[in-house]
Amino acid sequence: MTDSVDGIGRVQLRLIEQSVSSRSRARAWGIVPGSRYLFVAERLLGELSAPALSAIVAHELHHLRRWHPLGRVVLPAIFLIGWAWAIVVAPLSGLVGGAVLVAPYWLMVMAIERRMERRADIAAAEQVGYEAMVEALRHLDETSDEQSSGRIAWLASHPTFAERIAHLEAEYDGEPVDNAKSTTDGGHHDRS
Ligand SMILES: [Zn+2]
Repeated sequence: MTDSVDGIGRVQLRLIEQSVSSRSRARAWGIVPGSRYLFVAERLLGELSAPALSAIVAHELHHLRRWHPLGRVVLPAIFLIGWAWAIVVAPLSGLVGGAVLVAPYWLMVMAIERRMERRADIAAAEQVGYEAMVEALRHLDETSDEQSSGRIAWLASHPTFAERIAHLEAEYDGEPVDNAKSTTDGGHHDRS
């Protein structure tokens, strides 16, 4: 599962029996090196090929390496601290100013989160193989319990699996899949 993934070293891999939602089947968690975790739903081990599992691990590792879990805490914190400070300095305009800025700031944070997802997908595809990442996303999409109808893309923190696949395909458009160190060999998969 972690064979073709570099840098798993200091990250602890944990298998979880049941995930709360289908979105949380793989998660990177933790800020301090040495206490960083990567959670993967046990069920996925039986459902995905070894390369696809490696791609999921590589995706989550990219989040950890780029301090994405820290960003998810720090970005809202910066705003709240700034707002509190503004209210102390100038109560009325601080309160109003923060209220006006909260929506655009939140939209910006959501856009950053979606970008983090796409970057993690590309990093995993470059490391493990484009086909493996697409296989993983297709499977997650097919077995997802999420409703995509009524969803507003620019309000969401995560792009849909379909959007992520389309983005990967666009990224690799015109390039032979072989370029991306793919470990699949025509339908035959080693299951771990
Ligand atoms: Zn992710």
